[in-house]
Amino acid sequence: MAWQPAENRYEKMKYNRCGRSGLRLPAISLGLWHNFGDDTPHERKVDMCRTALDLGITHFDLANNYGPPPGTAETAFGEIMRSDFSGLRDELIISSKAGYYMWPGPYGEWGSRKYLIASCDQSLKRMGLDYVDIFYSHRFDPETPLEETCGALDHIVRSGRALYVGISSYNSQRTREAAAILKELGTPCIIHQPSYSMLNRWIEDDGLVDTLEELGIGSIVFSPLAQGMLTTKYLNGIPEDSRAAQNHFLKKEFIRPAIIDNIRKLSAIAERRGQTLAQMALAWVLRGGRITSALIGASRSAQIIDCVKALENDSFTAEELSEIDLYAREADVNLWAKSAEL
Ligand code: NAP
Repeated sequence: MAWQPAENRYEKMKYNRCGRSGLRLPAISLGLWHNFGDDTPHERKVDMCRTALDLGITHFDLANNYGPPPGTAETAFGEIMRSDFSGLRDELIISSKAGYYMWPGPYGEWGSRKYLIASCDQSLKRMGLDYVDIFYSHRFDPETPLEETCGALDHIVRSGRALYVGISSYNSQRTREAAAILKELGTPCIIHQPSYSMLNRWIEDDGLVDTLEELGIGSIVFSPLAQGMLTTKYLNGIPEDSRAAQNHFLKKEFIRPAIIDNIRKLSAIAERRGQTLAQMALAWVLRGGRITSALIGASRSAQIIDCVKALENDSFTAEELSEIDLYAREADVNLWAKSAEL
């Protein structure tokens, strides 16, 4: 018999309205950037997706280039759609993106109409889907007119390839410009996907959080665990099976004694709150209800189970917040500093 998700899956999760749209997203969503490529056994991917849905995580975030090699996360997710999630399409929010390098030549990255529409078609094919729920411009392209990028997003919706559109890592000013163009076109920008964590606060410093609130755009924040740094895994060195051991997106150089010292102090605060550090880090990005969803990654199902428990204690005292600020600000490694610069 085909796999069936837990009957009580909607009882555990919180669903937050995405800006002023009609869409509600789970407070915690699962991204397939890492650990869904050819370097991970398929059973583990299946297990993580099943676990997520059992816990009420209805939103799975992908992009054309997720792998390795690029594209394989979408292919793997397509297989899971057929084997495990078949019959569940209407209960899922599946997103994809285009913006980063995907294929050679002048049409394989950035923000042209040519690239975005071709890439969206490729993503749909890899996942075996008729449409994605959300399609994003993955990054602002300084050389393509924003009208063209937004026009492509509008076309992607009007042609039935996506239900909603969003932008990722655009700074506050570019967000205002894109939102105005999309509004004019009649396809509102309903969501922004920036990086954000206790260690990376550019969206506060840039005014993006205020801008999104003002414009009624929802926010799903990526790398809320700073790619795993906001967990206890690096307190005693770099485990072999961790992301930092790959030294690619999370560099070993970030795991410095001074930073680890501060992370140890953050972990002590979490312990006092009766949480793991990962749980506190997720509760922190969701505090006060300004962020729609925390977009986590995982390398195994137990991490997803741990993360979802963050919702059991998501309020903070003023003292806790200022103590967190003290240590987190010192440990700020600015993993995604470039986001605000374009
Ligand atoms: P993250 O949640 O900050 O980091 C995920 C990593 O943290 C996991 O791979 C795992 O590391 C560790 N982890 C997770 N839960 C844990 C737990 N409970 N205990 C201990 N360790 C735990 O997020 P991310 O993977 O960097 O990014 C999440 C998603 O955001 C991506 O999948 C993607 O969908 C999206 N994203 C978007 C962009 C963009 O430009 N729009 C950029 C980056 C990411 P180990 O692998 O070491 O076990």
